[in-house]
Amino acid sequence: MDLGLKGKKAIVCASSKGLGRACAMALAREGVDLVINSRTEAALEATAAEIAQETGATVTPVACDVTTEAGREAVLAACPAPDILVNNAGGPPPGDFRDWDRDDWIKALDANMLTPIFLIKATVDGMIGRKFGRIVNITSGAVKAPIEILGLSNGARAGLTGFIAGLSRKTVRHNVTINNLLPGPFDTDRLRANMKVSAEKAGISVEEFAAQRAAGNPAGRFGDPDEFGHACAFLCAAQSGFITGQNLLLDGGAFPGTL
Ligand code: NAP
Repeated sequence: MDLGLKGKKAIVCASSKGLGRACAMALAREGVDLVINSRTEAALEATAAEIAQETGATVTPVACDVTTEAGREAVLAACPAPDILVNNAGGPPPGDFRDWDRDDWIKALDANMLTPIFLIKATVDGMIGRKFGRIVNITSGAVKAPIEILGLSNGARAGLTGFIAGLSRKTVRHNVTINNLLPGPFDTDRLRANMKVSAEKAGISVEEFAAQRAAGNPAGRFGDPDEFGHACAFLCAAQSGFITGQNLLLDGGAFPGTL
């Protein structure tokens, strides 16, 4: 299926690896030119070269911390009028809320709530003027079912989700949609790092913990980041203009609710 995205321009944040990279790759396969971003320059440049080589897309790497104002400015300078914005940043660390002070909370809010909001603020009016825009926020399955050790993520992402619920109903009239993708367990470095903490707590090896967790998912496995990228491209499709304000959970069926 042609998603009608050839020649469009996208900013994909936090995309040298993992879910962000998968979204960037899926969009590039549809003919979208990209600005990709992460903090580690060498890894980002390697990813840009891989995506460009595989897809023929123009891929501009902007190495910076997207959770800072200077970082966001650098990304926007490289692509001031994007058709597509994929918001993403590293997730906050796991832990016990008794150990988190104000600075820890502000960092989590900056990364997982305020950075997407400021990038939307900088780009959405241009999208409205051009009558096309697709904004996808990578949040977390924790928005639907909180993960005990990820209190910072549970809290910050819930704030973003509430904000998007309101704004997405105001922009859709102009063919600008805003949706959230909620990853369950996808096989990325982030998942491995979180499982290390849980495995230590449970007193078993990380391999044992990972095997148990994968087996416990209805799909019997973790998600493949490519599957996540496909969902992102689908939401960005020209034909997806009637889908807005949605929270699409990709978790192999782990969330037990009927709706
Ligand atoms: P990952 O494999 O660790 O990749 C994270 C990417 O983000 C890397 O490219 C990293 O590069 C970049 N990054 C991190 N902080 C950044 C910053 N401040 N500015 C710019 N780039 C930054 O993580 P992932 O699994 O893809 O997770 C992506 C998001 O989904 C996270 O917020 C995570 O919490 C959430 N999530 C993931 C899962 C899962 O199962 N994987 C489940 C639920 C939620 P640098 O470190 O070089 O900057």
